[in-house]
Amino acid sequence: MRLSEYFLPTLKETPAEAQIVSHRLMLRAGLIRQSSAGIYSWLPFGFRVLKKIERIVREEQDAAGCQEMLMPTIQPADLWRESERYDDYGPEMLRITDRHGRDMLYGPTNEEQITDIFRTSVRSYRDLPLILYHIQWKFRDEVRPRFGVMRGREFLMKDSYSFDIDADAAARSYNKMFVAYLRTFERLGLKAIPMRADSGPIGGEKSHEFLILAETGESEVGCHRDFIETDLTDQAIDYDADLQPIVDKFTARYAATDDQRDPEKEKALGDDLVTARGIEVGHIFYFGTKYSKAMNAVVTGPGGDQVPVAMGSYGIGVSRLVGAIIEASHDESGIIWPQPVAPFGVGLINLKADDGNCNEACESIYRRLGDKGIEVLYDDRRERAGVKFAEMDLIGLPRQLIVGPRGLGEGRVELKERKTGERREMTIDAALEAL
Ligand code: ATP
Ligand code: MG
Repeated sequence: MRLSEYFLPTLKETPAEAQIVSHRLMLRAGLIRQSSAGIYSWLPFGFRVLKKIERIVREEQDAAGCQEMLMPTIQPADLWRESERYDDYGPEMLRITDRHGRDMLYGPTNEEQITDIFRTSVRSYRDLPLILYHIQWKFRDEVRPRFGVMRGREFLMKDSYSFDIDADAAARSYNKMFVAYLRTFERLGLKAIPMRADSGPIGGEKSHEFLILAETGESEVGCHRDFIETDLTDQAIDYDADLQPIVDKFTARYAATDDQRDPEKEKALGDDLVTARGIEVGHIFYFGTKYSKAMNAVVTGPGGDQVPVAMGSYGIGVSRLVGAIIEASHDESGIIWPQPVAPFGVGLINLKADDGNCNEACESIYRRLGDKGIEVLYDDRRERAGVKFAEMDLIGLPRQLIVGPRGLGEGRVELKERKTGERREMTIDAALEAL
């Protein structure tokens, strides 16, 4: 993509309304624009990141044996009356009336909808286990939408739902999601720590939140130092194997969200205790038969009896992750994208766009990188070098290839790592090789 043609409306000034760094950088680097409080448009640059995150989330769900589908954003209120959540959910739910006077709502989550699909379609325990998921926009009329996409009103979530014949089988589904989450966040370049959590309005028996540590996190968490200092999981996972040992390994050490913290345990940890602020990026729940009983989602069991299915639900905040990744990875010059989610892998900077040699070299590099399947953002504009450097640092592509007339005279270009700032001079061929 040529920057001269690309829609990347960056801002020079720091937007006054943005309180935290990720929100400021997302506005300044042209990722999003606010539509109304907590509701955003995704501009091309931000949309690319959102799609990359979505893809990694999807790949890991599929690897764990989940099946993707798509449910609507608008749901009938009657389903929520069956589970008795229509009143319980309160003013966070956006309620809509259609032209026939029917009560509808913009879904804040999809337990009722998926349970309805299940009960009309699945009859026998032989069709279990089953994990279905979708990646769909949600609406929650948050009391205080803030921090940009981190706490929006409209936001993109991946939500999965598991169906099993009994609690033991459901624990296996829960473990699959637990491990899939560890892998997903790791692939996104994040260290997400699973913490025992309260299940809140979803209701239920077992629950873990996955949090990343960052100064601007909304809650204070406590955990064992090992979580920070050791890597999570780098082994290949066989999802048909018993995953309990992996889950045990991660749940054995102390890690608790603010409302679950235990002063006694924390005191005992001594120097091994780390307290920090955390951002919730995922949340998994086991809630057994709460919805299946209320909504009569039953299957025929092995003995011929009618059994309400055991269920769990599993969410990842896809749009929140864009902000969370920036919180975890930036410096005073701008964003530093982890390679797997970078909107482009390489930024190509032409320092003298009115120089024939520079143009020719850049065009050739641009083409050759494209042929290799590398996504390049080519700054071909007639701008001062200082402006180009600052903007490339702001938008945070992991690597920059800098082409100027002086170096080119000796057949050399510069390769810069955004993260370390390290710059190396080399021939064009060597640079292409390194990329
Ligand atoms: P929170 O405690 O942050 O309000 P929650 O516990 O209500 O979130 P869940 O129902 O667990 O949220 O939703 C699953 C995931 O969706 C969360 O882990 C989070 O990453 C994301 N999420 C929830 N609410 C929002 C929001 N208002 N804006 C952006 N992402 C959100
Ligand atoms: Mg939650």
